[in-house]
Amino acid sequence: MRHPIQCIIPPYMLERLARSANVKVRDQAIAGLSQAAAVRAVRAFAQRVPGMMAVPSPAASKNRLIYDARKKDRLPGKLVRSEGEKKSADVAVNEAYDFSGDTYDFYREVFGRNSLDDAGMTLISSVHVGESDGSGKYQPMDNAFWDGGQMAYGDGDGQIFQRFTRSLDVVAHELTHGVQSFTSNLEYRGQSGALNEHFSDVFGVLVRQWRRGETAEKASWLIGSEVLVAAPTRRGIRDMENPGTAYENDPDLGTDPQPSHMKHISTSGADHGGVHLNSGIPNRAFALTAKALGGNAWETAGRIWFDAMLQLSRHSEFKDMASITVQIAGDSTRFGKDVKKVVQESWKKVGL
Ligand SMILES: [Zn+2]
Repeated sequence: MRHPIQCIIPPYMLERLARSANVKVRDQAIAGLSQAAAVRAVRAFAQRVPGMMAVPSPAASKNRLIYDARKKDRLPGKLVRSEGEKKSADVAVNEAYDFSGDTYDFYREVFGRNSLDDAGMTLISSVHVGESDGSGKYQPMDNAFWDGGQMAYGDGDGQIFQRFTRSLDVVAHELTHGVQSFTSNLEYRGQSGALNEHFSDVFGVLVRQWRRGETAEKASWLIGSEVLVAAPTRRGIRDMENPGTAYENDPDLGTDPQPSHMKHISTSGADHGGVHLNSGIPNRAFALTAKALGGNAWETAGRIWFDAMLQLSRHSEFKDMASITVQIAGDSTRFGKDVKKVVQESWKKVGL
């Protein structure tokens, strides 16, 4: 498979869960860690429907197809809801439908982009992706992923993770991986990979803020709150404003390891060279920019970041991202004269 599958739950979270004192949590994490369900699903998908990438929409406009994988690892599964069809009795089907629609509407209304490829590509989602273990028992997938052509959502184990369609920012995060594959196509490794994760978090959170009409000041900067089973030691999968604090001293998840400054950048080779770890650094720069500018984050900060996503290339690094956003923000006819300084200072605060 040419395209790496891009999961919302990073391997370091599953690795920590695999060391939990809770046997049930541990067993589920070990099963998930091999990513057997995800990998097999992608393989089966690629074999079954080799030409399915970038399915055009019949009307070159919003077109959603929701499939039910029926607790199996074969994608896409059975088609259960198409564009314009009435609500399903299955809440996961409706969430995948509604949230992929919100993501489409956001890109169309805010940036004038027609779907992921800007040519009306069909948004395909599969829900209830999982597999059966050796004894035939259902193992729900503790993840959601983008495989280069479609979205796949697990049901979660019910102990740490809930249904992955519950979170609009998770859905928008994954679909933004799709947008990126048609734009900067940043290599999913090291700093370019962390930028790839960063853009998915930025537009993931912006779709939610836009949908709810929340200003940068009032909005939450957490990613994936709704997919975690609630506990006082966990607030989300990641915190863009304060990376490293999304969960703390959690008996199963431990403490969020994301760095928030270049001083603490991870140089480990794990997680494709820390793509989900080091994204904390640019995430903080974005949240700082948006809050300092005030108002709606998708307007000025979002526009600058969207343009940067179009201009970066496959091997761009953090310093390229910092300089390109400062350069875009320097266009005072578009953004006014103080925006450049705000962007510059936000990067400086994270060591760039
Ligand atoms: Zn991702």
